[in-house]
Amino acid sequence: MVLPLIDGFGRVHRDLRISVTDRCNFRCGYCMPAEGLKWLPRDELLTFEEIERVARLLVERHGIDSIRLTGGEPTVRADLGRLVGMLSGLGVDLALTTNGATLSSAAAVLADAGLKRINVSLDSLRADRFVELTLRDELGRVLEGIDAALAAGLDPVKINVVVMRGVNDDELVDFARFGRDRGVVVRFIEFMPLDADEAWTLESVVGVDEIVARVGEVFPLEAIDRTSAPASRFRYLDGGGEIGVVASVTRSFCDSCDRIRLTADGQFRNCLFAVDEFDVRSLLRSGASDDEVAALLERAVAAKWAGHGIGRVEFIRPARSMSQIGG
Ligand code: SAM
Ligand code: SF4
Repeated sequence: MVLPLIDGFGRVHRDLRISVTDRCNFRCGYCMPAEGLKWLPRDELLTFEEIERVARLLVERHGIDSIRLTGGEPTVRADLGRLVGMLSGLGVDLALTTNGATLSSAAAVLADAGLKRINVSLDSLRADRFVELTLRDELGRVLEGIDAALAAGLDPVKINVVVMRGVNDDELVDFARFGRDRGVVVRFIEFMPLDADEAWTLESVVGVDEIVARVGEVFPLEAIDRTSAPASRFRYLDGGGEIGVVASVTRSFCDSCDRIRLTADGQFRNCLFAVDEFDVRSLLRSGASDDEVAALLERAVAAKWAGHGIGRVEFIRPARSMSQIGG
């Protein structure tokens, strides 16, 4: 019997994000400090078998039907295709978020292993700015990776663009055009206070209304009815496709949030902005039964708060930055 994971506010949780590594081959300033972070020792990472056990429990007992692999950069974890194969056997909607740099060789392997959908993060289409943002000269490889994902039949291929005022907001229309030309959905993401350097300010956020107005001036848009998905969706009036905006800051979707997270070192988080974590790894390694592990996960979801409160005085930044939580 499936027992839905319901928190104290009546929200049912169906979407699991699994970070498979905290390591990354990029250094995006809004996510990780330029000097990098101290990587987790290997024995602190959950094994694929441990990840599969937690995922299976959540799917079979609690009705989780959507899993996204993330990181750090998930494609730097050795043999990722094996994990994709293990999780695709659970019959869920399986997706991956990646910086795309290794996709030209990995996309076909991952698709063959059972991956369905992919989001590629890309914050500038200008080679010099791309280097400034990521500290890596890899724009060409990422663009090749996007083509490889399309060729491998991953569907949809979405592009995640974190919009930062004065940094890349002059490329909104360029990204819209890129999405229309390549037949990919561009999802603009409001900049969130999870940057390792703590440089985030409310003024640096470009909100959904401004994004839609600026793109719509060139390519007129209309809103599509919002589903439970966090992105607000807009379609081009000329039939040229759609864009999404993840308006986590200006239009928080906490009220309908259905996400839970497992970090690479086996900590269960009931919110992206949670300050408390639940230590699943220790429990798994102590020989706990499935009932005991499930009880911890249920307790963790029951303890979820109403929402993050970004911009309010009571907001507390989580101790970990985005690359350690998984986005
Ligand atoms: N390395 C992969 C990637 O870049 O797609 C997966 C991990 S990354 C942490 C997941 C997503 O979080 C990416 O789309 C990234 O752009 C986004 N992200 C990172 N820091 C962010 C921030 N401070 N605000 C909003 N989105 C952020
Ligand atoms: Fe790495 Fe992704 Fe963070 Fe960039 S956004 S530093 S690619 S984890």
